[in-house]
Amino acid sequence: MAQEDVFKKLVSHCKEYGFVFPSSEIYDGLGAVYDYGQNGVELKNNIKQYWWQSMVMLHDNIVGLDSAIFMHPTIWKASGHVDAFNDPLIDNRDSKKRYRADVLIEDQIARYDEKIAKEVAKAAKKYGDAFNEQEFRSTNARVLEHQAKRDALHERYTKAMNAGPDLNELRQIILDEEIVCPISGTKNWTEVRQFNLMFSTEMGSTADGSMKVYLRPETAQGIFVNYLNVQKTGRMKIPFGIAQIGKAFRNEIVARQFIFRMREFEQMEMQFFVKPGTELEWFKRWKETRLKWHKALGFGDNHYRFHDHEKLAHYANAATDIEFLMPFGFKEVEGIHSRTNFDLSQHEKFSGKNIKYFDPETNENYTPYVIETSIGVDRMFLSIMSGSYCEEKLENGETRVVLKLPAALAPVKLAIMPLVKKDGLPEKAREIMDGLKFHFNCQYDEKDSIGKRYRRQDAIGTPYCVTVDHETLQTGCVTLRDRDTMRQERVPVNELQSVIGDRVNITSLLKKL
Ligand code: ATP
Repeated sequence: MAQEDVFKKLVSHCKEYGFVFPSSEIYDGLGAVYDYGQNGVELKNNIKQYWWQSMVMLHDNIVGLDSAIFMHPTIWKASGHVDAFNDPLIDNRDSKKRYRADVLIEDQIARYDEKIAKEVAKAAKKYGDAFNEQEFRSTNARVLEHQAKRDALHERYTKAMNAGPDLNELRQIILDEEIVCPISGTKNWTEVRQFNLMFSTEMGSTADGSMKVYLRPETAQGIFVNYLNVQKTGRMKIPFGIAQIGKAFRNEIVARQFIFRMREFEQMEMQFFVKPGTELEWFKRWKETRLKWHKALGFGDNHYRFHDHEKLAHYANAATDIEFLMPFGFKEVEGIHSRTNFDLSQHEKFSGKNIKYFDPETNENYTPYVIETSIGVDRMFLSIMSGSYCEEKLENGETRVVLKLPAALAPVKLAIMPLVKKDGLPEKAREIMDGLKFHFNCQYDEKDSIGKRYRRQDAIGTPYCVTVDHETLQTGCVTLRDRDTMRQERVPVNELQSVIGDRVNITSLLKKL
């Protein structure tokens, strides 16, 4: 199936099975804003729990925080967001569609990479075991030609982005590379302009002089302005971290990829405060730790890669993204940034308050350096859904749609079904559910044939189904069906909790870290 079709199917599956709905749908929706339905909210909560526990429970030097969305507006001046949180935008005059100029160019670079990868794959197939990839890459004329073009473009682009960015040069690159609008197919581009991504609103009534405030575009600043409160009240010693989950808002220019790029989204951020000079060592450690967290979900190591940043943000001295192979290519899910002491120094300057850390071991005062790990809940959600969505051909010729979600993240862990709606089976099923509902999210289902009920549970990723039949009343055993293998086994009711529990609890994931 073409990857584009997979993505379309995924979007409609999310809606049909109560994972994600367009916001305000009966009013035709609101651009790039989405609501999570009955299954979506469970999956989202499980993702958050997995992240939170891996940070706060597994590290005794990391604690949590829940700061407000509204903050003093000077914070955003200090952080650089008022002046520099911009994207370069460009419009196509024919389609009237708006794009990020940097993204158009990065896509073009990716196209060269794809061409090279295709040549390599073709040759690998042709030469089999005798294939020497390194030699091929350094001698094949077509590969060298693509590589030279790619490198030249990359250098020119990086230079333009680092020069402000140089908006005229970005436009010129788009023209020189003959990049066309995917909708109109034309090169009829406007100038490139800067666009600030922060939403603002008014706080207080106008009579007493209202104040312009921003909806936070990241949760990180709430951590920075509280770091000393937490350090002192929690008696934290450097190195230590503060973790926070919360909403963030960005007036994104291009918002067309479902929940990949939203205007209201949720972040899970952890700021780790370290001694100056040790930050790059910690940066390396957090890169490894975070990648392990992703890989523990079991989608396969080939689904992940690091993408080191060429253009560093104004605050960073090293940065990388963890990318996941989505149906539309490798895309950023998490950013790991070495933010230096930029934010804390800026807040010290703008607030006029001393927010230095006193190190009891060296008797020194200093401004800590910060390593940030920042991941979008919604993007993580999308990566998990796309990694899990499967259409399987069955032996009887039918197709089943199954979400192979990591069991610990599945919205419903166990579906409990009486074989028929009579003979005391519903009562028995309810009784089993009443015992298990304290341990996991269970769903009771008695409608339609067993086959149909299994399909419904497959479609929402329920790892186990329990069927209560007439024999259950005599033997006290039920049929336990596994979502992925579809294998069925007889299990005594009083063993269900221990059989399932180990496999579906977040702890099973945490133990892999
Ligand atoms: P991008 O380059 O895709 O715009 P970014 O580099 O600006 O992302 P960060 O500022 O590093 O993103 O934010 C950290 C994380 O927050 C991202 O890795 C992503 O998972 C999430 N995120 C950022 N913007 C959005 C958005 N508009 N919608 C959903 N998630 C987002």
